[in-house]
Amino acid sequence: MVRGEGCRVFDVDGREYVDLVSSWGPLILGHAHPAVIDAVQTTAARGTSFGTPTPGEVDLAAEIVARTPVESVRLVNSGTEATMSALRLARGFTGRDLVVKFAGCYHGHVDGLLAAAGSGVATLGLPDSPGVPAGTTADTLVLPYNDIEAVRRAFAAHPGRIACVITEAAAGNMGVIAPRNDFNALLYAECQADGALLIMDEVMTGFRVGPGGVADRADLYTYGKVMGGGLPAAAFGGRSDVMDHLAPSGSVYQAGTLSGNPLACAAGLTTLRHCTEDVYRHLDATSATLQKLASDALDKAGVAHRVSTAGNMFSVFFTDADVTDYASAAGQNVDAFAAFFHRMLEAGVYLPPSAFEAWFVSAALDDKAMEQIAAALPAAAEAAAATNNSPLPPRADMTPFRP
Ligand SMILES: *Cc1c(COP(=O)(O)O)cnc(C)c1O
Repeated sequence: MVRGEGCRVFDVDGREYVDLVSSWGPLILGHAHPAVIDAVQTTAARGTSFGTPTPGEVDLAAEIVARTPVESVRLVNSGTEATMSALRLARGFTGRDLVVKFAGCYHGHVDGLLAAAGSGVATLGLPDSPGVPAGTTADTLVLPYNDIEAVRRAFAAHPGRIACVITEAAAGNMGVIAPRNDFNALLYAECQADGALLIMDEVMTGFRVGPGGVADRADLYTYGKVMGGGLPAAAFGGRSDVMDHLAPSGSVYQAGTLSGNPLACAAGLTTLRHCTEDVYRHLDATSATLQKLASDALDKAGVAHRVSTAGNMFSVFFTDADVTDYASAAGQNVDAFAAFFHRMLEAGVYLPPSAFEAWFVSAALDDKAMEQIAAALPAAAEAAAATNNSPLPPRADMTPFRP
């Protein structure tokens, strides 16, 4: 891609697409939003980094504290850094080593969390990444998502040894799967009972599904994506008594040369301030319309599918089974998705190129874009239907879509 404007992106060959990727979530206002660009340009002219806090960093931190359950927050540069640091802090605070994660949840490319890590791995059919020493994931317990009994069994098997449970506030990296049956609340209760911490990863959901994200109860939270407004900014935070264990006030080390970078803070703060209740209403309505358009087209073509939602995030799973965890998500017909995706792309609609991803709506999606999507869907649904009779050959040229 060479350029983005509103809900559209333009590639090196001069083709134009309606963008439903939104840079994997951050661009909730669309591309090159005038207020965001202006904030970045004004800030850049005053110098790009000082290696010490700036008013912009403090303002962004205050905005996060005002919108979310966190009492205290620290800025970093990526979602990966946020989860990595939260994990270290949880281990330092509890003096325990074991970490529980859920199959299909992605928490960035932290070595210890690259076990059953969702979309990037799932799309490419890769095993856990080479380069991750077995010792690094030896302290990671991977459990099925939405399975509270599995969590209870893990605590029973390792009493007083689990530092933390980390979960996506709503799963978005194995396709969108909402937590079922009070799952997040039960996780918190199990953690409390054993003295472990719950880390709620809201890197994808935070400031996207509502002003403060999902905001279910937890000890620590991680944020990224929307809060950087398209520049690299992320954060972790939570209970003050836990955050106080971070250096320099405490002994758990964490630092970053460019953390709280002025340009990223300017983009993030401007984006958050434009994310009003009106914007969230528009996102919800747009998402609901898209879900119905896609579902109707697939129904008409006779393609088995499930639309799975968490707030305005949604995925279309090409399956007729309920999707509640990674195993059921992985049972979908990825060939049908591939055919659907490519036909949409040919018609100028850029969907996330994976059956295991959320469709990311932006506030910039306008009537013209929605009409273009509606017009593209029937042929894409027919292409998906056709794969039932003739599965696609494996694609040797598939390239990784997430670094
Ligand atoms: C994207 C994502 C991350 C990683 O963030 P990066 O900025 O890509 O490092 C972590 N957790 C979740 C839930 C995410 O969606």
